[in-house]
Amino acid sequence: MAQIKQTAGRDQLGAFAPEFAHFNDDVLFGENWNNQDIDLKTRSIIVISVFMGRGLVDDSLKYHLQTAKQNGVTKKEIVAIITHAAFYAGWPVAWAVFNLAKTIWTGDEAVATGDATLAEYAKTLFFPVGQPNDAYAKYFSGKSWLAPVSTAQVPVFNVTFEPGCRNNWHVHHATTGGGQMLIGVGGRGFYQEEGKDPVEIRPGTVINIPAGVKHWHGAAPDSYFSHLAIPVPGEETSDEWLEPVSEEEYKRVW
Ligand code: MN
Repeated sequence: MAQIKQTAGRDQLGAFAPEFAHFNDDVLFGENWNNQDIDLKTRSIIVISVFMGRGLVDDSLKYHLQTAKQNGVTKKEIVAIITHAAFYAGWPVAWAVFNLAKTIWTGDEAVATGDATLAEYAKTLFFPVGQPNDAYAKYFSGKSWLAPVSTAQVPVFNVTFEPGCRNNWHVHHATTGGGQMLIGVGGRGFYQEEGKDPVEIRPGTVINIPAGVKHWHGAAPDSYFSHLAIPVPGEETSDEWLEPVSEEEYKRVW
């Protein structure tokens, strides 16, 4: 089973209450959550039930709902869990938890595309998969999907690639500033600058692409892949799309 690593205690209370932070990160999450006598999905369901029973419907429950989704609780299951708990915990609590859950189990939209494998993959993501990436399809080899995460202030898009899918070689131009940031959020993929080795992207990997650098990004041959794409503000920015990444070049990531 995956090892749980928690830093919320030290991140939020490390300076104020270091011992509590230690108990939170190292004992509650470090030892208890990593005890394998019951699986992570079951642990998540227990925590949600207890939170509901106590009427705790704040950001910490939101965190546990997100974790539950990561631990494999499907949309159908969370709806049944909240409905079941509603009779014991109270109707208003269920309403509040449903309103939180609705904001988290959104990736299941992929089910609507009829792609069962994509739907399974989408359950592992915090961010929605969104819609088929038709506008850019001509610059991609393989199927991709696009979901706006933020359209205000700094635009952020979640881009999902099917296994083997990658975009063409391209350049983000700017006279000053510009370029692009990628943050891996699901599956396994790659980023490659021309003349350099491909760099693996896993959830949490941050890639800073300067303006003017020729590159491509995309999925590993055997994995769906999602990254957040963040255009870096600059002057006179434009994207130049070039030739597809050849099979020969793509084979370097195998
Ligand atoms: Mn790019």
